[in-house]
Amino acid sequence: MKIRVDHIKDKPYLLHVEEPVEVFPVLAGMRADGVCDFCGAVTAEITVEREFDHLRASGRVQANIELTCSRCLAEYPAAIDSTFRIILRRESARHSDIEEELELCDDDLIATVFSGDEIDLSREIEEQVAMEVPMKPLCGDGCRGLCPSCGADLNQGACDCPDEIIPTAFSALRNFKTFR
Ligand SMILES: [Zn+2]
Ligand SMILES: [Zn+2]
Repeated sequence: MKIRVDHIKDKPYLLHVEEPVEVFPVLAGMRADGVCDFCGAVTAEITVEREFDHLRASGRVQANIELTCSRCLAEYPAAIDSTFRIILRRESARHSDIEEELELCDDDLIATVFSGDEIDLSREIEEQVAMEVPMKPLCGDGCRGLCPSCGADLNQGACDCPDEIIPTAFSALRNFKTFR
């Protein structure tokens, strides 16, 4: 995932990444914490090109993951597919320039700095994937979740628990009228 800066000349430099999740510490940590599981490799297609005095990386990251529904606890597969653009500038560049430029550009553009002869895009790749993993995953918009009393999966059908009866002022009034 490292690119030598002097390899990026007039033509765009194409980088194809296909790496196991173990290569990405943030993603491996998410798997260890049970946030999600990764099925197969994390892939990325990134084009890096020179633009004025900086480099611009445009790419797409993809990964197949398995999530646990936050309502019914069912595991279900999901696909991460995200595109991004990053401006890479040498560390020595004046920061005011970067800020000026960012004000003019759309907000999905990320700016980052690099130093030395190489740029390493592994951090950017894993950040893009991590950002797309939902915090409160849902197997579907209509997921009915689990019954709070017996724990049955209500997506499979209703359970035998009685509907909770909450006495209200209205029902008390109704009873009063009936008995009169
Ligand atoms: Zn669910
Ligand atoms: Zn129940």
